[in-house]
Amino acid sequence: MALEPPTGLSPSRVSSFQDCALAFRFSAIDHLPEPSSLPAVRGTLVHAALERLFDLPPAERTAERATVCLADAHTAMQVDPEYLGLELDDDGDAALLVRSQELLDNYFQLEDPTRITPIGLELRLEAPLGDLNLRGIIDRLELDEDGGLVVTDYKTGAAPRQQFEQGRLGGVHFYSFLCEEFFGVRPAKVQLLYLADPVAIIAEPTDQASRGLRRKLTAIWAAIERSCEREDFRPRPSKLCDWCAFQTHCPAFGGDPDAARAEAAANAALEATPIDLRPVPVPG
Ligand code: SF4
Repeated sequence: MALEPPTGLSPSRVSSFQDCALAFRFSAIDHLPEPSSLPAVRGTLVHAALERLFDLPPAERTAERATVCLADAHTAMQVDPEYLGLELDDDGDAALLVRSQELLDNYFQLEDPTRITPIGLELRLEAPLGDLNLRGIIDRLELDEDGGLVVTDYKTGAAPRQQFEQGRLGGVHFYSFLCEEFFGVRPAKVQLLYLADPVAIIAEPTDQASRGLRRKLTAIWAAIERSCEREDFRPRPSKLCDWCAFQTHCPAFGGDPDAARAEAAANAALEATPIDLRPVPVPG
């Protein structure tokens, strides 16, 4: 029986399939639960703080206000299941805030937020490409001095070494392509702001890059459909396995994917079962 392909592709799904087809299947097709991760939660917190900062009038986007934005985002995060899943004690929570503050402080070394003209924050875009649906969330879309679009993506992990920069730009080129399909305008610039280093990696999208990405996405989608048809998603062990949320289910590490899928399906069925809250009649 063929597997149902996902309903669309995002930049993270594209790189997941390229890195390891089996990890892609676990996440995008089997929907196996992924445990909370500290780097992911920290990234969410810093993104939320920067979103709040850019909601302020330009003159108010100071480092001091960024700290307030971080505190507000941290308060709002208290009910986030990803955050709760970390089960941080007071020291762990304090360390999360300290590192997030460092990343925010580093942000101010990369650009002056009072000079940025955002037109979209955490902007959800979707656009069709043949029978494929492209989707993504753009951290920040802004206008440059000449009225051109600029796509900005914040990264809270380490910047890639120089020879891998072009590969890492793939995600922002994807967003640029989405803008082009959605608004009918190609962005003038795409940039990755690596807050840990801090360093900015910047590129100008071209006709050639756009055509290349269209071809690449079409080919990747065809490969995903083929893998679904044949139910053939193979593990591809690499250094990335150290961070893979599915290592215990992976046959390359002695895991049993079928057992994991059966357990996930049983849990999903249990969660979908309605609870009968009517009062139980008292006998007599
Ligand atoms: S552990 Fe490695 S090989 Fe296995 S699914 Fe994860 S990334 Fe792929």
